Amino acid sequence: MTTANILLVEDEPAIQELLAFNVAQCGFRAIQAYDVPSALAEINRALPDLILLDWMLPGASGIEMARRLRADQRTRDIPIIMLTARTDERDKILGLESGADDYITKPFSPRELMARIRAVLRRRAPQMSDETVRVEGLELSPTTHRVSAEGANIDLGPTEFRLLHFFMTHVERVYSRAQLLDQVWGDHVFVEERTVDVHIRRLRQALEASGKDSLVQTVRGSGYRFSRE
Ligand code: CA
Repeated sequence: MTTANILLVEDEPAIQELLAFNVAQCGFRAIQAYDVPSALAEINRALPDLILLDWMLPGASGIEMARRLRADQRTRDIPIIMLTARTDERDKILGLESGADDYITKPFSPRELMARIRAVLRRRAPQMSDETVRVEGLELSPTTHRVSAEGANIDLGPTEFRLLHFFMTHVERVYSRAQLLDQVWGDHVFVEERTVDVHIRRLRQALEASGKDSLVQTVRGSGYRFSRE
């Protein structure tokens, strides 16, 4: 299973450490930020798979940050769970309206928080889930790292595996090279876009014998799509 990167945006050191500890215990990778500017710098470097965002932060608030992420095409789909000490119903609505996927109030039970993280990831980032995916006779298992086409085993390198997993969980949608770098490589700055083409070619080659290579389609001028058509 691909390890999900969870960005923790929380200024209180004790809570930040508690979050980081629990996130790591669950097998996720914790990225820690104590304020909005450093959180944004982390996001600019690599897109996290989920953000745990505190409401009350020094300077800019978590709400402002959530709105900002939702307004930007690159970041608008990152799942966000808001963390706050407020229990006021009005604030809760404001949090959800600003684009948060879920909401949890402090003090929180780490177990509940982790269950919420898993639920949001399952819903919003299915390529991070360890469930077996089946599309058009292709079967991919994140736990065993095996891929088969109509029952016949297919050998894939780690990048091709991640790429195929992403495609199989996002069928019929067009992704630009930059988006694939963000989603599959987690890096849109230091990896060249033509790297995507290299791995697409390898993936198609690996799928060729089964005839499934036609599922990986080039969309001229836009990027790639995994499609049944
Ligand atoms: Ca705070």
